[in-house]
Amino acid sequence: MTSDANLRESATPDTAWQDDVRAGVRHVRDLASLPLSPAERAAAQEAAASHKVRIPKAYLDLIDWSDPHDPIRAQVIPSPDELIAAEGELDDPIGDHAFSPVPRLTHRHADRVLLFPTYQCAVYCRFCFRKESLTSIGRGYTREALEPALAYIAEHPEIREVILTGGDPLSLPDAALAEIRARIEAIPHVRLLRIHTRVPVALPSRITAGLVGALQGRLMVTVVTHFNHPREITSRAEAACRTMRQAGFVLLNQSVLLKGVNDRVEVLEELCSELMYRLGVKPYYLHHGDLARGMAHRRTTIAEGQALVAELRQRLSGICNPTYVIDLPEGGGKVPLGASHIEGREGETWLIRGQDGKLRTYREVVG
Ligand code: SF4
Repeated sequence: MTSDANLRESATPDTAWQDDVRAGVRHVRDLASLPLSPAERAAAQEAAASHKVRIPKAYLDLIDWSDPHDPIRAQVIPSPDELIAAEGELDDPIGDHAFSPVPRLTHRHADRVLLFPTYQCAVYCRFCFRKESLTSIGRGYTREALEPALAYIAEHPEIREVILTGGDPLSLPDAALAEIRARIEAIPHVRLLRIHTRVPVALPSRITAGLVGALQGRLMVTVVTHFNHPREITSRAEAACRTMRQAGFVLLNQSVLLKGVNDRVEVLEELCSELMYRLGVKPYYLHHGDLARGMAHRRTTIAEGQALVAELRQRLSGICNPTYVIDLPEGGGKVPLGASHIEGREGETWLIRGQDGKLRTYREVVG
């Protein structure tokens, strides 16, 4: 497999997705074909120099070009605001590199590792917290590049979950995915394969029978999608999720809270309910915006996020509610940010505020 194997055309008949890739934005020069004003185009081209640009046609088609603040556009069209680095922003916002014992692997928690088969994606999101790695490393999958990471997993029996992330693992060809899956499942102590991907959102036609077949084997497979806005939930995304559900994969979603994209409770309510009820995807995490460089214009405050999730909890059932989390710098891990309902305690008696806003006492009774 060569380093530019991502999204390579193959001879399989299940290849409608290739038209989406070919007709989309693949290079900075392709921005010239978009309905942007000359000033917007120049600004987008300048900003694209700091973080790669790639947008499949299926995702471009979701943009309302008459709205300069369109939430789909905001996620993929480079903005000059990205060039403004605020104090406190970081190249490696969650400490991937500090916990990387071998290339292409991060081991932050004992029972699981992040494995990076590729540093390339089907779509490049402007808010990406790994954009520095995607630029500075940037390489695709090669068998040789992954060997040290696979050897590390084999030598650590405490590892039960392998999380394929990147880059976007589902931007790889079926043969590469099958090879990676087979290598991981040959390690007897690994029990679960988790895949973090934005492909079902931005390039849903890529979720083919061949792709899910490449991932099926001994391991339980969990796919964590990345829908941020209800307009991303299309009939093609629905078909992609159905294909994965029917293959027996567990589907979860993580969203990033982004100012001007999904920082209104009505938007989050529709996103989370449609994920669960239409796609069969459980809203898992709502991430507070990481300290990625040039993203101050898209971050909310934590207080704003807490108010949103408190309101969301009133509106949606528990199964539709994601957990609002912050991924702490320096590898501190994900911690919940939702407001606590505990107001006080006296011995075995707790003072807890109910969903109706009223304070109640709860006395613990244990045997
Ligand atoms: S698909 Fe994921 S890794 Fe790739 S740019 Fe988007 S957020 Fe970053």
